[in-house]
Amino acid sequence: MSQCKFSVIIDQKYSLDSIKKENDMNKLPDISKDVSQWYNEIVYKAELADQSPVRGCIVIRPYGWALWENIKTVLDKRIKETGHQNASFPLLIPESFIKREAKHVEGFAPELAIVTIAGGKELEEPLVVRPTSETIIHYSFARWIKSWRDLPLKINQWANVVRWEKRTRPFLRTTEFFWQEGHTAHATREEAQEEALLMLNEYINLAQDYLAIPVIAGEKSPTERFAGADITYTFEAIMMDGKALQMGTSHLLSRSFAKSFDIEYQDKEGNLEHPYLTSWGVTTRLIGAIVMTHGDQKGLVMPPRVAPIQVVIIPIYKKDAEQQVRDAVQELYTRLSKEYRVQLDADDSKSPGAKFYEWELKGVPLRIELGPRDVDNKAVMISNRVTGDKTMVKLDAIESEIGSMLDNMHQELFNRAQVKLQGHWNKESKLAIFGPVMDKEAGAYQTGWCGEEECENKLSEFKGTIRCLLKENEFNQCFGCNKSSVRDVLVAKAY
Ligand SMILES: [Zn+2]
Repeated sequence: MSQCKFSVIIDQKYSLDSIKKENDMNKLPDISKDVSQWYNEIVYKAELADQSPVRGCIVIRPYGWALWENIKTVLDKRIKETGHQNASFPLLIPESFIKREAKHVEGFAPELAIVTIAGGKELEEPLVVRPTSETIIHYSFARWIKSWRDLPLKINQWANVVRWEKRTRPFLRTTEFFWQEGHTAHATREEAQEEALLMLNEYINLAQDYLAIPVIAGEKSPTERFAGADITYTFEAIMMDGKALQMGTSHLLSRSFAKSFDIEYQDKEGNLEHPYLTSWGVTTRLIGAIVMTHGDQKGLVMPPRVAPIQVVIIPIYKKDAEQQVRDAVQELYTRLSKEYRVQLDADDSKSPGAKFYEWELKGVPLRIELGPRDVDNKAVMISNRVTGDKTMVKLDAIESEIGSMLDNMHQELFNRAQVKLQGHWNKESKLAIFGPVMDKEAGAYQTGWCGEEECENKLSEFKGTIRCLLKENEFNQCFGCNKSSVRDVLVAKAY
């Protein structure tokens, strides 16, 4: 059919123009020049998401949701293995709950969506659509925790939350997003802090071992802490344009949460005590991080361990051997499906070229082409989405071969991201020098800090923030004043 379209040439110039136009329309914006625009187009073109009629909200399409489900499966297993139980709490929270913890309400008030009418009547007390669930979960904690025997209490919920964001971008910052939020209660501060660090560590493993994203982890500065936390731990990745992305956080909450919600228990000596609380979460923003970290000019590149489709099989038909190829791809599909997430693209209306383009755009790690000659040779050609390499693989050992190809690809993606991260990393002593560069070209800056908010505030002039405190202590002086540095910090512009 497609040949007919161009064989009837009325005006050759017109036809060529229209082909060119079609190619241009399919072309993604130049990723080396405008990552931002590239990102905005690829999330829709690759069918991760679709636009929605509600401002700042997106529809997560099956391909995007499958990616989230794979991330969720990995993390949920670890959450359970580290002694937490899943539960579900209401979407609607009495407004008075949010107001109980002063810092919490101060932090979230501008972002709240509030239900005032329900069932056709004005509500006596407005209900907040959860921006996070500390308050309603602590209400339950107060009912469940009575004695030291009830501790530790370790709960997790997978849910959607709503924060009325001013500027939104698909996955990276949306009004409604999906996440898991863990909430725990402990007898001692040390144990609670250990818990917050344990989960931070689980997140780092998820990012590095499954998403192939190298991260920098550390404590947030006091001004960047979660509303109502004593300590906020963060893990950050540097995207290909040199901006930081906060991938997730883990908090040791302030004592006032337990006090505000009257969570009290009797210790072994019979005294009434407030427990120490933590909360921690990662969101569908991780999808944005994957897109931004691994993508290239051809489209997405899915990290193999969470890729919705790990292998796509494309039959190459030849006139006299069509059935032979059909049988062979079906057999291969059945075999590989036992171990991998496989897609057989047997859509006869599309050319192999069109299929290659589509699956490259969607970032499927491995592509198998199978034609009549391959059936005879008992071998297939496998293309690697990351390196572009093509390898001939014998069918009898294909399962193990694919396994090692996917493992190598994971490592290759991680190494590439690590090299990019190092390329963005700078060590600079004074804001006056690196500030203007950061403003113009982004980048990550390791520098010294005196610990004063006054100096931290100077970063806003160059649109930067302290992303986290670092373990290193290489700088003697603060980036913003002449005082001594208390420890090194990572400064960057952030998404
Ligand atoms: Zn200073």
